[in-house]
Amino acid sequence: MLPGKQPAEVDDHLLNDRDAPAISGEWPASERVLVSVDHHPASASLLRHSAEMAARLRAPWAAVYVETNRSINLSEAERDMLAANLRLAEQLGGEAITIAGRETAQELIRYAASKAVTHIVIGAQKQPTWLAWFSPSVADRLVRKAGDISVHVISGNEHKDAVPRSVKAAVERPAFDLRAYLLAVFYVVIALLAGIVLDQVLDVRNLALVFLMAVLTSAVLHGLRPALFSCLLGALAFNFFFLPPRYTMTISDPESVLAFFFFLGVAIIASNLTATVQRQAAAARQRARTTEDLYLFSRKLAAAGTLDDVLSATAFQLSSMLRVRAVLLLPESGTVAVKAGYPPDDKLDEADIAAAHWAFENNHAAGRGADTLPGARRLYVPLRTGRAAIGVIGLDSDDRDGPLLTPGEQRLLDALADQAALAIERIQLVADVDQAKLAAEADRLRSALLTSISHDLKTPLAAVLGASTTLRDYFASMSEEDRKDLLSTVVDESERLNRFIANLLDMTRIESGAMEPNSALHDVGDIVGSALRRAAKILSHHGVHVTIPADLPTVRVDPVLFEQVLFNLIDNAAKYAPEGSTVEIKGWTGTGDVMVQVADSGPGIPDNDLDRVFDTFYRVRKGDQVRAGTGLGLSICRGFVEAMGGTITAANRPDRSGAAFTIRLPRPQEITNDITKLEDMK
Ligand code: ADP
Repeated sequence: MLPGKQPAEVDDHLLNDRDAPAISGEWPASERVLVSVDHHPASASLLRHSAEMAARLRAPWAAVYVETNRSINLSEAERDMLAANLRLAEQLGGEAITIAGRETAQELIRYAASKAVTHIVIGAQKQPTWLAWFSPSVADRLVRKAGDISVHVISGNEHKDAVPRSVKAAVERPAFDLRAYLLAVFYVVIALLAGIVLDQVLDVRNLALVFLMAVLTSAVLHGLRPALFSCLLGALAFNFFFLPPRYTMTISDPESVLAFFFFLGVAIIASNLTATVQRQAAAARQRARTTEDLYLFSRKLAAAGTLDDVLSATAFQLSSMLRVRAVLLLPESGTVAVKAGYPPDDKLDEADIAAAHWAFENNHAAGRGADTLPGARRLYVPLRTGRAAIGVIGLDSDDRDGPLLTPGEQRLLDALADQAALAIERIQLVADVDQAKLAAEADRLRSALLTSISHDLKTPLAAVLGASTTLRDYFASMSEEDRKDLLSTVVDESERLNRFIANLLDMTRIESGAMEPNSALHDVGDIVGSALRRAAKILSHHGVHVTIPADLPTVRVDPVLFEQVLFNLIDNAAKYAPEGSTVEIKGWTGTGDVMVQVADSGPGIPDNDLDRVFDTFYRVRKGDQVRAGTGLGLSICRGFVEAMGGTITAANRPDRSGAAFTIRLPRPQEITNDITKLEDMK
């Protein structure tokens, strides 16, 4: 353990770099807790204790299981308990880690040092004093080697009776392999032939080694039972053919009796050892494969962006790793419904849906092999997250009778189900957050709309009301000129109201996605002309300069929408540029597209706001009371232009002060195509 203590947030980065000379002096203190777990039920209370301790210290914690040679001999119940303990660690917010090693205390210390752990929690082992003298407990060894790591030895509450499985397990019976036994006979026959040849040169007792070779070959290639079988055959053949008196099953010479029993003993021990090593290697290979598969699965889940992706990846993984048919069901209108399956064409009948629904409601396995509804064709297990069941997995297979999964497969199923449940929950949470964001955005828009409406409706309405009541009450006493003045106020303000309401309607159409431009080929000059006619009154105090070349290609636009875009731009130019200045409207072709620009000589737009002016309700000068506006005009322009397949950008004029809005419309393909067609026809 190194003396420096590191902050939790920067752990790995700093841990990797901590020997670098650049980092020196005291580091901010931080704690890390490690708890040693195994297959005993008492580990559960150790885990709870460690979780509490870590919470108190605000420290990250990990539960570590050291896999030693003894692990291979764990019973299925003990393996279940171990898996349950590691899962409990994760549920309590810790990290569950398995490391392989020869000796538990040694590995724990090594791991603790590499992760800068400050506290190790371990259960007290109850063992007689004399035994402790011979072989000190893991806790004793830890305390001796811990250095400056604090070791907490806790006496856990043993709950002897582990929770029984709710699903019956299929029994794993290795198939009887006749070939292995025949080959065992074959190796002994070869050894016998070799023995007959070597009999000429070797002492008879050394011939036992030749038979030992046959036994070891069986053990390496076929495992313990065929090896024991060849051990028996070898011993009989050795006695019958070589030990005097030859060709009888009796042994006369006491030394030979000794040699015979030594041969038997050595052969049994050697085949046992060899077969165990083989079994361990096979188990390690299998575990590595499973871990690799689980890792790939978790990466696939992390990359999955939609619920469908997660569900189909999970169904496929369950089916291929457990060699069964798999369906996934999620809650839907009061019951559960199939959302994915592998192979994909699986259908469920009502009894199965009922079993699946029961499993979901009760967060407990049901169906084939389980203690509830065992008559169903499939086994249903809930997909659980920390909170509750979020779905159900259904499994079945035609190849197997009775219980579906071996204990090892059940643990694998648990691991797969945990990963899938987390991925599904993640996707659902993202969807919830999106929904909440949308709702918040809608709320914001609604309140902005209300504020804007109350202001923008009230101002022109007040003017209309004022002018018309004055007209009504003082009509007779007024001069002709005053009457005209008031009437034109009524008309102007009503028009403004009208424009505002039209804008609001346009905006609603854009936002609801109901915009369907009625596009056809049109001449830009014509539409500019009609927009200018509509804006004539607004532009009465401004000059207008239009430059549209006669050969400007026609564009594919909706004339009503395009006119509205131009009108809004002209309206803004008239509103923000001083009276007497000129509004310029230009058209040209640039990089194959048709460009239309409306530029004015007003104050322009601050550079930071160039993009944002297109946002709904965005106004550069908030609460701009001088120039009435809603912040809707430009967002409508952008909505319309984009609906017609174009883009619109805002800029400040380079030559002088003023804003310039440029619309880029794609040059219609058909024209080029039509021209090519015409040329082809020639
Ligand atoms: P508004 O109803 O406020 O005019 P718009 O969406 O049409 O709403 O414009 C958004 C903001 O962009 C305006 O409030 C204004 O600050 C700025 N703006 C728009 N056009 C011009 C322009 N021609 N010159 C200067 N500023 C402009």
